Amino acid sequence: MTEKNKRGLLVVVSGFSGAGKGTLIRELLRQYPNYRLSVSATTRAPRAGEEDGKDYFFVSRERFEEMIAGHKLIEYASYVGNYYGTPRDYVEEMLTAGNDVILEIEIQGALKVKDIFPEAVFVFVAPPDAETLEQRLTGRGTESREQVLARLKRAAEESRWMPDYDYLLVNDDLSETVARLRALLESQHLSMRRH
Ligand code: 5GP
Repeated sequence: MTEKNKRGLLVVVSGFSGAGKGTLIRELLRQYPNYRLSVSATTRAPRAGEEDGKDYFFVSRERFEEMIAGHKLIEYASYVGNYYGTPRDYVEEMLTAGNDVILEIEIQGALKVKDIFPEAVFVFVAPPDAETLEQRLTGRGTESREQVLARLKRAAEESRWMPDYDYLLVNDDLSETVARLRALLESQHLSMRRH
């Protein structure tokens, strides 16, 4: 098979809310515009500055449940009171066309993706320590104190799944973390080429 006909690489990035994975992925996409980011559907309300169809597809609970029933989602999960899910068609189309696709999803969803796409690469982004996580979550000012505490509790629960990931990236310095992520994705491409 030629390189052109090859399926793309599926990259799953998870990490605690506030670990900086959104910023990390934005920077990766700026440097590597050929990566495709899957836009998820969610029932959460948009934050200031978020755009429908770009950051998320913001949908009602009824619409989300229709998407589940119609098998339109590869995976979905409930996270701190809201649904989040990955639309199937975009990911399938992009991978088949040979494009690399990034999913930025939480752990329950990532474990489901692992069952369906065992060849995907799983990257977990962690903050350097718990204090930094709390500071980042509080400092961005997008969640109430109650929501920040719910997200911190969720992070503590999620930490036990970290060993299920292929790579752990400690996000202490953005540009270094982007460079490490690029290096590990490039090494995945080299090993794909050998198969
Ligand atoms: P946020 O509300 O901060 O945008 O996202 C909350 C969490 O939901 C984050 O950990 C994010 O990675 C995750 N998430 C976003 N989209 C999806 C999705 O399609 N599926 C799953 N399982 N998690 C998602």
